[in-house]
Amino acid sequence: MSKKIERIGVMTSGGDSPGMNAAIRSVVRTCAYHKLECVGIYRGYQGLIEGDFKTLDARSVNNIINKGGTILKSARSKEFRTREGRDIAFKMAKEKGLDALVVIGGDGSFTGAMIFSQENDFPVMGIPGTIDNDIYGTSSTLGYDTALNTVVEAIDKIRDTASSHNRLFFVEVMGRDVGHIALNAGVGAGAEEILIPEEDLGKERLIESLKRSRASGKSSSIVVVAEGDKTGENVFDLKYYVEENLPEYEVRVSVLGHMQRGGSPSCWDRVLASRMGVKAVESLLDGKTNYMVGIKDSMMALTPIDQAVKGKTDIDLELLRVSDIMTT
Ligand code: ATP
Repeated sequence: MSKKIERIGVMTSGGDSPGMNAAIRSVVRTCAYHKLECVGIYRGYQGLIEGDFKTLDARSVNNIINKGGTILKSARSKEFRTREGRDIAFKMAKEKGLDALVVIGGDGSFTGAMIFSQENDFPVMGIPGTIDNDIYGTSSTLGYDTALNTVVEAIDKIRDTASSHNRLFFVEVMGRDVGHIALNAGVGAGAEEILIPEEDLGKERLIESLKRSRASGKSSSIVVVAEGDKTGENVFDLKYYVEENLPEYEVRVSVLGHMQRGGSPSCWDRVLASRMGVKAVESLLDGKTNYMVGIKDSMMALTPIDQAVKGKTDIDLELLRVSDIMTT
C-alpha cells in the first residue's frame, strides 16, 4: 500500500523550454489547492542529489506564467545516471519528506524518473517540456508552439531581406532527430522547400525544385532545414552544393540556434502547462505513478512513462503533401 501523498517535489530537467515556469506554477498552485506541500528542487536531478530544495507556496510563483526559461534552473546530472547517485537522491528525498516527484523535461529526464521510481518504489509523474515535440503520448510538448512562433517570426524577417536582394536563404532550425519544427514552421512561413530527418528528398530534387521555382517567376526563396536533415550534409554544405549547381542564385545561410528555446511562452503553451500541472498532481493523488501527462484530441491523457520514452512520434504526412502543393 503506497504512502499517502502530502508533499510533492517539482523539478525541471534537461533542456529548458518556454512554458516550464507556467507548469511549475500550476503544480505549486494545484498542491496549494489540495492542501499539499510543494517543494521546488533546483537544477534538476543534481539538485535532488544535493538537497537544493525550497518550499514553494501559491504566492511564490506569482508573475512567472509569462516568463521563458525556468525559475528552478535546469541541469544535466551525470551523477544521477549512476546507482550511487540515485541512492543519494532517494536518501535526500526521504530526509526532506518528499512523497512524490513531478519531473518537467524530455525523454532523458523521464528515463531517469522511471529508473528512480522502479529502484525505490517512489511515485513519479512526467510533464513533457521540450521544444522538439518528439515525445510519444502527447500531440504537443511544452514549448513547441512557442518555438514554432519564434521560428516563423524569424523567417518572416529573413524573407524581407531575401526578397529585397533576390537571394536564396537556407534557414536551419532545431530538430536533430525529428522534423516537427521544420515542417510546421516551414509551412507556416511559406518556405519553398523543407528538409527534415524523416524524409530524404535528395539534393537533386532540391535543385530541380529551385529551378522550377525560379522559372515560375520567384526571385527569392526560403529553404528550411532541420539540424538532422537526411541529406546528411550540414546547411553550409547544402549552400555550396546549390551555389555550384545553380550559380545564378546568391545563397545565404541563417542558423537560428538557441533563440528558438527562449522567450515568453505562447498562450497555447501557458494553457497547456496549466492543464498538465493540474493533471500531474491530481493523478498522483489518485494513486497513479510512472505516467507522463500529455494532450490527445484536446484532452489530458496519461501515457506510461516507459512508452513515452520508447515510443516514436510520426511526422504528419498530410502536412508534407500540403507543403508540396503550396510550393506550386
Ligand atoms: P532534452 O529534450 O533537452 O534533451 P532531456 O530530458 O531528454 O531533455 P537529458 O540530458 O537527456 O535531457 O536528460 C536529463 C537528465 O536526466 C540527465 O542529465 C540525467 O541526470 C537524467 N538521465 C537521463 N538519462 C538517464 C538514465 N538512463 N539514467 C538515469 N538518469 C538519466
